[in-house]
Amino acid sequence: MLSFFTDPYPDELLYSAFARYHFYTGNIDLKDTLSELFGKNSAIPSFEIGSHLEFFCTALGGSYIPESLIQEHTLFPFYAPFLPGNRRKELLKDITSSDGKGIYTRIGIVAGSICKKDCIYYCPACIKDEMERIGEAYIHREHQLQGVIMCPHHEKFLKKYPIKRHENSRVEYIRLDGSLLDLSDVYLYQGKYQDELLRISKASYYLLSNDLSSISKTDVLLRYKNLLYEKNLATNRLRVKQDELHDLVAGHYGTELLEILESCIDKNDEYNWLRVATRSVARTVHPLRHILLILFLINDMDTFFNGIRETYNPFGKGPWPCLNRAADHYRRDAVINLTVTADYKTREPVGTFSCECGYIYSRKGPNKSDNDRYRKGTVKAFGHVWKNKLETLLNEHCHSYHEMARQLGCDIKTIHHYEKIWAEGNSVNDDVYEIDWTQPESSLKQDYRARMLGVLQEFPELSRTEIHRLCQKEYIFLYRHDKEWLFEMLPTVNTQSGSKGYIDWGQRDQEVLLQLQKAHSDLLNRSKPIRISKTLLGKAIGSLSLLEKHLHKLPCCAKFIDKVAEKKQQFQLRRCQIIVLRMQEEALPVLDWKVQRKAGLRREDYESIKSQLELILNDNHEAL
Ligand SMILES: [Zn+2]
Ligand SMILES: [Zn+2]
Repeated sequence: MLSFFTDPYPDELLYSAFARYHFYTGNIDLKDTLSELFGKNSAIPSFEIGSHLEFFCTALGGSYIPESLIQEHTLFPFYAPFLPGNRRKELLKDITSSDGKGIYTRIGIVAGSICKKDCIYYCPACIKDEMERIGEAYIHREHQLQGVIMCPHHEKFLKKYPIKRHENSRVEYIRLDGSLLDLSDVYLYQGKYQDELLRISKASYYLLSNDLSSISKTDVLLRYKNLLYEKNLATNRLRVKQDELHDLVAGHYGTELLEILESCIDKNDEYNWLRVATRSVARTVHPLRHILLILFLINDMDTFFNGIRETYNPFGKGPWPCLNRAADHYRRDAVINLTVTADYKTREPVGTFSCECGYIYSRKGPNKSDNDRYRKGTVKAFGHVWKNKLETLLNEHCHSYHEMARQLGCDIKTIHHYEKIWAEGNSVNDDVYEIDWTQPESSLKQDYRARMLGVLQEFPELSRTEIHRLCQKEYIFLYRHDKEWLFEMLPTVNTQSGSKGYIDWGQRDQEVLLQLQKAHSDLLNRSKPIRISKTLLGKAIGSLSLLEKHLHKLPCCAKFIDKVAEKKQQFQLRRCQIIVLRMQEEALPVLDWKVQRKAGLRREDYESIKSQLELILNDNHEAL
């Protein structure tokens, strides 16, 4: 049990709190301190992340738990959102219970290190402030992040502590010594990229200071896809337009800044960080680079992690303005109902905005500027509010057509049209006037199918629920209009191992067919014949339930089984055939009654296949 331990200060690196402990105990040999804190004296736990935290927390008598120490006093949260979920869990376990060997490699700090820091960094303004308030300086974790060279709080450049730090030292714990700190306002670096560097520093601090433990690399990737799609940098099937994205990102930051941040992007490299970040769940990309991408895409960390809709929407966040000039809410954000489809020919997204006042308009997307919100392509329905207004204007008999058209935001022809059908006493179906049905339901279905397939292929590990969440609109539409297809494509729900990912049934069909063919020939070669059936084949390949439940998704297999499965008589015939062949091999006389008895057939059964048997045997004979 430790006799004392001073609580870590806000954002103090655990390492710093340990160094303080060592200082206050007065231990002369560092190994004594290490034994007290971690039960081992082999090495100081890693500077950024720490290790052996379970022992340490127990030694403190339960006033801390490892998880919150990691979250509040290490650099782990900087890396965590960009790690695959399973790797994050393993790492947490290692930091907590083991000596943390290999943590750096797995987290990507060693392999993917950029803007590496081998010294301790500090902000003079932070230190001055703390000296006044608490009387001592401590090591801030946010100043040690790779890529961070400004203080996110004071917006000043950081300074280097003059003593170099050695990873995994057994010799010393470095504690900030007031006499070695330079608290003057003189800064060595005064570059032109201060704004960008400060934004990066604040974004990095956002990662440390917010609980993003529910976010994993998959979530990040999905958010990228959303934003890229909205910016027209990904196709309807969510393929990222890598070349365009590269040019925009590279142009946005400029070569010089990317060089400073050691994050240049080689356009021709299939594995440049931009491609990997927007494509792969398994590979890790340095957090600094993720920050560059996020800031490029949305310029705000919080919106990125908390504010993004989970369906693709190229028309920006709703509600959207109603463009019905006859409504008192004209140009106000009254529309909550938006359907996005793809243009029949160009495949560009088309939004259809339906307002409660009955007014429905559509336009092509994606939005390129804020003003696009007020642009309308086609009016698909005018609605009751609009028509009431037109009726009133017509009845007043004092407005020119020109003026009415202007007031109502329509073509004069439209007014003539309504005047005419009303005069004729027709009001039925007048709402469909001007509807441009370039998008028949079948093509909508094709489009949604394509989009759904894109998602399924891109994210094979997602469960049904996650897919539903990700593309609600497509899911609901297909559920209503194309349920059979949808359910065939969706991952199966497997109660034993949770949900299984997307299955490529075409490929599965071929694989299972091969297994079936092999099993079939094995079965035929058995010395004691067994009747070939779907059940027997299914058992032989160990996938009976697959055949029972999903054979309709495996057309080649179904065809094959249909071909080889034996009816009772076919099986009797094969049995007799084998018996006869063996008799011939052994040069025994082929006697009908013997064949019949050996095959275990009744007289009439044997009689009914006898002619076929002879035919086959004669064929065989001739072939020999
Ligand atoms: Zn500061
Ligand atoms: Zn409206």
